[in-house]
Amino acid sequence: MMCAAVAAQRGRRVVLLDHATRLAEKIRISGGGRCNFTNIGAGPANFLSQNPHFCRSALSRYTPQDFLALVKKHRIAWHEKHKGQLFCDDSSEQIIGMLRAECAAGEVSWRMPCKVGSIEKSGTGFHITAEGGDIECDSLVIATGGLSIPKIGATDLGYRIAKQFDLQIVEPRPGLVPLTFDGPSWEAFVPLAGIALEVEVSTGGSGKGKGKAQRGHFREDLLFTHRGLSGPAILQISSYWQPGTPIVLDLLPEMDVAEELISMKTTVRKQLGNVLAQWLPARLADGLLVANGFAPDARLADMADAKLRKLGDAINRWAIVPTGSEGYKKAEVTLGGVDTRELSQQTMMANKVPGLYFIGETVDVTGWLGGYNFQWAWASGHAAGTSV
Ligand SMILES: Cc1cc2nc3c(=O)[nH]c(=O)nc-3n(C[C@H](O)[C@H](O)[C@H](O)COP(=O)(O)OP(=O)(O)OC[C@H]3O[C@@H](n4cnc5c(N)ncnc54)[C@H](O)[C@@H]3O)c2cc1C
Repeated sequence: MMCAAVAAQRGRRVVLLDHATRLAEKIRISGGGRCNFTNIGAGPANFLSQNPHFCRSALSRYTPQDFLALVKKHRIAWHEKHKGQLFCDDSSEQIIGMLRAECAAGEVSWRMPCKVGSIEKSGTGFHITAEGGDIECDSLVIATGGLSIPKIGATDLGYRIAKQFDLQIVEPRPGLVPLTFDGPSWEAFVPLAGIALEVEVSTGGSGKGKGKAQRGHFREDLLFTHRGLSGPAILQISSYWQPGTPIVLDLLPEMDVAEELISMKTTVRKQLGNVLAQWLPARLADGLLVANGFAPDARLADMADAKLRKLGDAINRWAIVPTGSEGYKKAEVTLGGVDTRELSQQTMMANKVPGLYFIGETVDVTGWLGGYNFQWAWASGHAAGTSV
C-alpha cells in the first residue's frame, strides 16, 4: 500500500492485487492490536541481512520521522513505549485506514480477494493472469511478505517469482520466534512456565570470514514457557541463532554472582536457595540449583569457592542449546528471502529484470523486534514507489 500510494500520487496507474479477503492483516494483528508502526531510532544496525549495508539507502531516504509525519497528518494519536517503539494510542486499524486513504488519494484500484496466476515478461513489461482479467503492466512490484503465520495468508509466491526470473534466494527461516528446549537437562525448568525476568542474552559471532554467524546481544525480558523460552529477549536472539549452537543468558546482569556469594560466605548463614531467592524468582533459583547439581537447602557457608564459581557461571553465563523454534506458525518474521545482490538498493528493482521490484519482508532484510520491520516495509515501498 505504501508503494502503491507513492506511485499513484506521482501519477502512475496502479492496481493492487491481494489474495486475502481482509486487507493488511499483519498490520491489524501487530503490536497487540496497536501496531508498533516504526522505531524512532531505526538504522541499518537494527537489521539482519547477508549484506547489512543494503538497507541503508532506502532507510535514509524514508525515515521514521517521515512515517511519523504521515501519522500526524492523519491525526492518529500515538505514543512511545519502550526503546523508541511508536504505537497507536487506539488501534492498528488507523494505520490501515491511513494507507488506504493515501492509496485513494492517488486513485489506486484494488482487486481483492484475487488469485494471481502466471506472470510472464512481455515486451518491456509483464503479462499477469489474475482473477478478474489479465493485466499488462510496465512495472511489477512484489510485496507478498514472508512465510510467517500461514493461517493469515502467507505464501512463498515472492520467492517463486524470484526463482522464475533466475534471482538468488537466501534460504528463508523463521525469525523473532520462541525457542524450544527438551531432554533431561531441561526437565528442571519445565515447571517454571510463566516466570519472567530481565536478562542479557547473546549468540553467534563464531566462525571466520564469510561463514561467520552475525553476533546478537540484547538486554530484554525473558519468559519461561511450557515448551521452552520466549519473551522479547528470546525473540530478538532467535533471529541470530543458528541451529546446534548455544545462546548464552546472564540472568543477573547487574551482579557478579560468584564474587557476591563468596564475599557473603562468612557473614550470611542462609541456605543457597534462600540466598538466590533474594535476587531471582524463588522457583527459578531452586530450578537452577537442581539443574546444576546443588541442593537448594545446602548452606552457603559450607560451599567451596570453586563450587560457588560454577554456580555463578550457571547464572551469569548460562549457555544452552535450543532444540528448535516454534516455527513459522509463531514467527513474527521470515529471515532470508530475495538476495539483496539481485536488487538495486536505490529502487529495489531487480538488476537482471528491468521493471520487476521486490520490497518488504520478501527481501533478505529483517529487522529487530520493535517497529523495525514495518519501517523497512514503508522505506522499501517508498523507494520502489518513487521509481516505478
Ligand atoms: C503477529 C505479528 C506481529 C507483528 N508486529 C509487528 C510490529 O508491531 N511492528 C513491526 O514493525 N513489525 C511487526 N510484525 C512484522 C510485520 O508485520 C511484517 O514485517 C510486515 O507486515 C511485512 O510487510 P510486507 O508488506 O512485506 O508483507 P505482509 O504484511 O506480510 O503482506 C503481504 C501481503 O501479500 C499477500 N500475499 C501473500 N501471498 C500471496 C499470493 N500468493 N497471492 C496474492 N497475495 C499474496 C498477503 O495476503 C498480504 O496481504 C509483526 C508480524 C506478526 C506476524
